[in-house]
Amino acid sequence: MEKLIDEKYWQRKLTRLKSTLEKNNFEVYLVQNAAEAKAVVLKEIIPKTGARRISMGDSLTAVNSGLFVDIKNQPGLEFLDTFEPGIPIMEALERRRQALLMDLFITGTNAVTEKGQLVNLDMVGNRVAAVTFGPRHVVILMGRNKMTPDLESAMERVRSYSAPVNAIRHHVDHPELDPPCVETGVCSNCRNPMRICNTWTITEKSFPPGRIKIVLINEDLGL
Ligand code: SF4
Repeated sequence: MEKLIDEKYWQRKLTRLKSTLEKNNFEVYLVQNAAEAKAVVLKEIIPKTGARRISMGDSLTAVNSGLFVDIKNQPGLEFLDTFEPGIPIMEALERRRQALLMDLFITGTNAVTEKGQLVNLDMVGNRVAAVTFGPRHVVILMGRNKMTPDLESAMERVRSYSAPVNAIRHHVDHPELDPPCVETGVCSNCRNPMRICNTWTITEKSFPPGRIKIVLINEDLGL
């Protein structure tokens, strides 16, 4: 019973957010889980855009749903993997540059406000660059846990939670990435050369209208 009420609560909040985001010129899809999100991208968004060359920014939701694997295996699509395990760092950076010229770029967002603003903080900047300009279309997969009331709480969420947790996550595969929050779990606004917090963006609206497509998911997903 509680689960049902909780789902209804989130469905109402997400329906309101969808309408707000649409007024900000985003194209919005509302789905119930990660599997549905994957199906929307593969069966609706990719065919509708005609995208053939696709790349990605960091998105746990896209990885965990198997979306990138399905795109890689789909005949007729070319997938540029910018996070392929084991590739040299210079190759990874070059792929991230090339990803800015793709037909479609898939990623996540650190937070979204109830006013429909996307709030992100990047280390390298490839993700926020692509969301802002470059790829012809952008798809953002977003779990309901990314919603915050306003800009201040969005930035607080990113500083106090997303950034330290992402630093800990990336440290596992890249031990050289070792800002102090990897040990403490707390942001100290460090000056570490491997600091993962370098560029903030606030995306108020999609330009051109509809370029940024947001898939809202009625589940807690991602960081
Ligand atoms: S500024 Fe430094 S300490 Fe704070 S979250 Fe970013 S990397 Fe961690």
